[in-house]
Amino acid sequence: MTDMVDLLQAVEALTKPTVEHHAQKDADGKWIRTRTTQLDPLLIRLEAAGDPSNVDGDSVTSSGLSRVPVNLTATFEFAKIRSDIRSWCRGRGVEPTRPPQTSTVEDLRRWHVAVIGDASFDPAWATGELRKWAHVIRGLLEPAIQFPAVRPCPVCGASYYGDKINGGGRAINIFYDRDWDPDVKVYRIRNERALCGNCKTTWVGHEAVRELADEQKEKATQGETA
Ligand SMILES: [Zn+2]
Repeated sequence: MTDMVDLLQAVEALTKPTVEHHAQKDADGKWIRTRTTQLDPLLIRLEAAGDPSNVDGDSVTSSGLSRVPVNLTATFEFAKIRSDIRSWCRGRGVEPTRPPQTSTVEDLRRWHVAVIGDASFDPAWATGELRKWAHVIRGLLEPAIQFPAVRPCPVCGASYYGDKINGGGRAINIFYDRDWDPDVKVYRIRNERALCGNCKTTWVGHEAVRELADEQKEKATQGETA
């Protein structure tokens, strides 16, 4: 059941800054330290991503090729969300912020304060909308996914790479980009690739990455039966 706590969390997911923790590890995968980065609220990051003057901002995407479409989509998604929040405000008799002090974060907070006091308000639908927005925005702002493969590299046999100076981690890392398709509301996965940080072998494309995974699995099974 959706309650007012879920609603508060959904509002905060869009309006509060987030802190990211990045673990730095040595060549043996041992923890060195954790770096923390504070990021602006999702709504502010989405607005910035859609602003042409921020095109060179590295928060948009690390891939120069996908920068333009991401920006157009961000502009479009932000306009849609802003207009919905403003009409939610008006529906509650709350005056949305005006230019030049327009703030979608502030509008959403004002709307939230207005519904908290209403005992007859059912938060289910709005919570669902807010969560959907957060999901869409994260997909737009963080299109590149990276995760380490636990099993060793089938080419060089290394499980880890790197040194204490440059850092390192699991030998094999898998990457892909994703594009949010707003029409059908799914992520399109593309640019799948894998890299061994130790022997620098790369696997490019969906088929190659799948073969790598199969090979790793096979080697692991052989190791178990040997
Ligand atoms: Zn390797």
